[in-house]
This record gives sequence, structure tokens and C-alpha cells, in this order.
Amino acid sequence: MAKERELLLDQYSTRVFKNRKSHITQLEFAEEPDEITANTRAIPGIITARGCCYAGCKGVVVGPMKDSVVITHGPIGCAFYSWATRRNKAKSSYEGEPNFVPYSFCTDMRASDIVFGGEKKLEEGIDEIMRLFNPKCIFICSTCPIGLIGDDVQAVARRTEEKYGITAIGYSCEGYKGVSQSAGHHIANNGLMRYVIGKGEEAPKSKYSVNILGEYNIGGDGWEQERIIKKIGYEVVSVFTGDGSYETIKNSHLADLNLVMCHRSINYIAEMMKTKYGVDWIKVNFIGIGATCKSLRMIATYFNDPELTKRTEEVIAEELAEISEDMEYYKSKLKGKTAGIFVGGSRSHHYQMLLRDFGMETTIAGYEFAHRDDYEGREIIPQIKADADSKNIEEISVSREAGYEDRYSEEEMKEMRAAGVELDTYDGMLKDMKKGYMVVDDYNMFETDQLIEAYKPDIFFSGIKDKYAIQHGGVVSRQMHSYDYSGPYAGFRGAVIFGRDVAMSLYTNAWSLVKPPWKTTPMIEGMLGGAG
Ligand code: SF4
Repeated sequence: MAKERELLLDQYSTRVFKNRKSHITQLEFAEEPDEITANTRAIPGIITARGCCYAGCKGVVVGPMKDSVVITHGPIGCAFYSWATRRNKAKSSYEGEPNFVPYSFCTDMRASDIVFGGEKKLEEGIDEIMRLFNPKCIFICSTCPIGLIGDDVQAVARRTEEKYGITAIGYSCEGYKGVSQSAGHHIANNGLMRYVIGKGEEAPKSKYSVNILGEYNIGGDGWEQERIIKKIGYEVVSVFTGDGSYETIKNSHLADLNLVMCHRSINYIAEMMKTKYGVDWIKVNFIGIGATCKSLRMIATYFNDPELTKRTEEVIAEELAEISEDMEYYKSKLKGKTAGIFVGGSRSHHYQMLLRDFGMETTIAGYEFAHRDDYEGREIIPQIKADADSKNIEEISVSREAGYEDRYSEEEMKEMRAAGVELDTYDGMLKDMKKGYMVVDDYNMFETDQLIEAYKPDIFFSGIKDKYAIQHGGVVSRQMHSYDYSGPYAGFRGAVIFGRDVAMSLYTNAWSLVKPPWKTTPMIEGMLGGAG
């Protein structure tokens, strides 16, 4: 076993060792492709960075939909801690469009609701919401006790629809479902597919249109992507779900192409829209200059229109000219530095491309809740077996809706794939990393310390729970979920902001003041024994 991997594992008890050893892989690229275990139950007491199913459903996927009211059904804690802590920005796109993102709605269940059931309180809450806000769509997100006491949130949603003529979805996304946020993504995808996508009839007005899937507009990332895509001339029908809305997502099946940013959280919808409506999807990455250019060119190749290809190149040239000087400057500051990235389910891959634009290498990386396909590529999906913890997550199947056809034949799609268009596929993170680098799934605090000791990265990107412990150890840490309240980091302009933030963190003068001067330089001058 390689030395670094050993360092992570050898202090574990036999049982923990047995569990963790397949979640930690040092890349070999031998005959056999590298394998990793993922999406399995976390070890109790190990200080995992993971969250829960409710966080994946309410916090990640449906929470950002600005014109929909999201009710947390349960005691107040889940609603309070997930209130405005994820920076999925949203603003009204037209006069009078509601924006409920700054609010947190909760049934605030008490002991009596646990004993006698919370459905009545939930329905009273919905009446109040309708009176005060009159939304067109309501999501009810269940927290841990709901499934245990047997509240039927789906029945409440159906009664709400009948009573008010709006769309209401009851989500059984109790925190203990599955093993992480990932279960919540899946549940949220199923609900959107069943009750929202396909409900609208407003067709796109432009010749070429896209949806951006799995983009949550953290720090304005989605806005920067939309700016570039619209500048080329595409129409953006909907964004799932950063600054997204019920009103746009219900028309999303009429767009020409789906662009998938976060594969983990939205691949279910991408696949189901392909099956039901024939909408192809392409795995894009708008994090990093090279990655953004590659994605834009892939989209243009997909539509195969010389005018569009020309316009794409013009926009790329204009955007590069605008940022090239800044990029050069930050590259001169960052070149040769190394990084670790441990984020949820997609950024640990995306940001490696952006760091490479600055001449930085990511030597250690991992995810909290990704599945094997996010690490190893979608081709291994048939080998993945659902374990007992994931079997209670509903799989829904859809079939082709009458009147919808595939845009391209299988043969044409094959040709496009050969031309480099990542159509209906994703290759995963491992293939983009180098031999000897370490990949850790469901990392914990102990492993973080060991990784830092073994690889000595110049900077560690992860979340709020790790940040201060890492910086206390003298290593620069930047939050890769919240962007340390900065951003956007996507696209061309975002890359410059990222370069600035990383350079600022590494070169801040405070690092030279960590050791007090009396520990590094002699303060008193004198002579011993009175001689001389
Ligand atoms: S695990 Fe349960 S109690 Fe905790 S945040 Fe998730 S739903 Fe709420």
C-alpha cells in the first residue's frame, strides 16, 4: 500500500479500516481502472462532512425556486439552520414576480403535533401561506419525525391542489433516508419530473434554446453562465434551479438541449427528459477558462450551424481579450501551487480545471456524497448495486410522450461523440487526475489532517465545518460551497474573481504573523558571565 494511503488508514480499528480502505484510493492507472466505494453509510462517530436527505431535497434542489413556497414540515431546527445559508441567489425577473428565497417557512412542530400528528397544522399553515402569498407552487419537505409518525404529506399536497388549483408536491425526504444529501436530490428530481416538467406550453422563441441543469447560482454563477450563453444567441428556457422558477421549469421540456453542470444532483432529470421528450443532454463545465471554451464549442457542434460556430468563436475571443491581463497576473502568483478539494458531489472535479488555468495542481480530492459514476464515469453504472440504505429511494420510470422525437439518430449521435461532444455521458473525476494523487470518498476530519500532513497542499478547499480547524493549523482554507461569500466563480469573469480570491488568501500578510516574533528572532542582546 502506498505510503500516503497507509498514513490515512493505519490508525483505524480493524472494522473501520475494513470499511474505509475502499473509500480511499491512490491513483494507479494500471491495467485495471481505479475503483472506489461510494454512496454507502457513513461510520458513526467518524465526523463526516455529510448532510441529510432533507438538505439535498429542500436545501439544494427545490429551495432555490424563487416563485415557489417551500415548507419545512417538522420542528424548527431544520428550517432555521437551512435558512439563507446556501447562497443560491435569486431576483425577480419581471415586475411582480414573487421571490420567496429569503424566507423560511416551517410548521414548527411541537410535542403535541408529534403525538397527535402534524397534518392539520400543515394544512392550516398552507391556508395561511395562500392568504398571505398566493404562490402558484408549494413544496412540502418532510424532516425526520414525519415518516416516523406517519403524516401523509402527499395526501396534503393533493388536497391543496384541489382546494386552491395550484401545484403542490409532498416530498418524503426525511433526513434519515439514504445515506447523504444525494437521496434528497433523487427524490426532488422525481417530484419535479412528475408534477412540474411538461406542464407548460410556452415554446422557446429563438432558433436554439437550452436549459441549464444542476446550476444553483451560488454567488451568481448561473447569471454569469446565462450572460455568456445569451451573448452567443441561445435562449435559456430554464435553470434547474438557481434563480429558477416553477413558471420556467414547467416549459423546460420544450427546449432543444439540456446542459448538465452538476451531474450528481440532476442526472435523473436529464435522463428522464431524454426518455420522455427526446431532449439530449451534454455534460458541460463552466468552471475554468479552458473548460468554458470547451463546453461552448461542444454546444455549437451539437447544433451544427456555421453561423453559430462563428458567433461562439467571436464571443470566446472577446471574453478572453477582456480577462487575459488579469489571468496572466494571477497565474504569475499561483503557478506551481498545489491544492486539495473536498466538496459535495461535483465541484471537486470542476474546480480542478480552473486551478489548472492558473498553473495549480489538485493532488488530493474527494466528494461527500458522490456515487461511483461521478468518480469513475457513467460506464460503470451497470456495475453499481443498490444497497439496503438506498433501496427505499423511489426510482420512477418514464416513457416517450406522443409528439416528441429524438433530434438526432443513433448514428449521428455516435459521430458527434467521436467529434468530442460529451453527449448523454460523463467521464467522472478520476480520469482527469494524475498518477499518485489521492481520492477520498466521504472524507472526515481525521483524514483531512492526515492528508494535509502527507501532501502539504498550499490551499485546501472545502466547507465551513473544516475551514477554521484547517486555518488554525496554518494552512489556507477557502470555502468551496459558499465561496467565502464571494463569487461568481463561473465563466470568464468568474475565473478572474476566483484567481483574485485565491491569491489574496495565499499572500495575506497574516500568515507571516502566525508565529510570534520572540519565537523566530532573538529579542534581547547581551553577554553571558560579564566577560568582555
Ligand atoms: S437529519 Fe433530520 S433533523 Fe437533521 S436537518 Fe435533516 S431532516 Fe432535519
